[in-house]
Amino acid sequence: MQRKILIYNSQTENSISTKELLSKKLIEKNFTIVSELDSEVELIVCIGGDGTFLDLIHEFDFPEIPIIGINTGHLGFFQEIMPDRLDEFIDNYINQKYSIQSMQTVMAHVYHNGTCEELKGLNEIIIASNANYAYSVHFDISIGGSFIERFSGDGLLVSTPAGSTAYNYSLGGSIVDPRLRLLQATPIAPMNTTAYRSFTSSILLPPDLSMEVKPVDNSSKVKITIAFDGFSKFFDNVSNIEVSLSETNVKLLRLESYDFWSKVKSKFL
Ligand code: NAP
Repeated sequence: MQRKILIYNSQTENSISTKELLSKKLIEKNFTIVSELDSEVELIVCIGGDGTFLDLIHEFDFPEIPIIGINTGHLGFFQEIMPDRLDEFIDNYINQKYSIQSMQTVMAHVYHNGTCEELKGLNEIIIASNANYAYSVHFDISIGGSFIERFSGDGLLVSTPAGSTAYNYSLGGSIVDPRLRLLQATPIAPMNTTAYRSFTSSILLPPDLSMEVKPVDNSSKVKITIAFDGFSKFFDNVSNIEVSLSETNVKLLRLESYDFWSKVKSKFL
C-alpha cells in the first residue's frame, strides 16, 4: 500500500521550489503526494513560515495527524527544519527517528444574539473592540466563577503555551514551555488610573478553570472583535465570552535534535 503525505505550501518562490524537490524525493521513496486531506494521509508537511502553519491548521480544521514544518518564512517557530535538510527529514521519518510534540489549543464560546459560537486558536484568542482600538473596552472578568475585576483597556489576549512566543510575548507576557498545561491571560494596554483599575501583568490559569468576560456596556457602541491566530470575527450584542483550554491538540513532528529552549534561544536571544 502506498503511503500518503499531504504537502501544504505558501506561494513564495522558495516554498514552491522546496515543494517540487521534496515531492520528487518522497515519490522516489514510494510515498504518494496529495493536496487534499483524507483518512489515509499519515503526515502533513507545511512549507512556509508560522503564518502558513496557522493557515493550514485553520483550513483543515485542526487536523489530528502529525505535521512537520519546513521553514521558508521569516521566524518559523513552529517550523522544524530548513529546506536544506530534506534528506535528513526523509531518512529520519522512514526510520521513525522522531517524537510527537502535542500543542494545546484555546477556545472561546461567544454568547451573542441568543446563540453561542465556538472559536479556536493554536496561538491565542484576543477579545478587543472592533474599531482598530479607537475606543476602550470594559469587561467584567471572572475566573472559575469568581469575579476578579472590571477591566478597562484595549483588550485581553489569552494565549496557549505555543502562542506565548507570539503576540503574547510582544505584550510583555511570559514565554511558557509547551509541556505545561495552562493558559495565560495578558492585558492589552490596560488602563490603570484613579478612574479605572485593571490588572497590568499576565495571569496564569490552570487547565480546569475558564475565564469569563462580560462586556459591561452593551450599548450599540460596544461591538467586540474576537481574533484567533491572525483571523478575526466581529460580534454585536455580546452578553458573555467564556475562554478555556480546548480538548483539541495539534501534533508536531519533531526530529531528535529538537529542544524547545534551544529554539527559543535561536529565535529570540
Ligand atoms: P503576521 O502578522 O504576518 O506575523 C506575525 C509574526 O509572528 C511572524 O513573524 C510569525 O512568524 C510570528 N509567529 C506566529 N506564531 C508564532 C509563534 N507561535 N511563536 C513565535 N512567533 C510566531 O501574522 P501571521 O504570520 O499570520 O501570524 C499570526 C500571529 O501573529 C497571531 O497569532 C499573533 O500571535 C501574531 N501577532 C503578533 C503581533 C505582535 O507581536 N505585535 C501583532 C499581531 C499578531 P513567521 O515569520 O514565521 O510567519
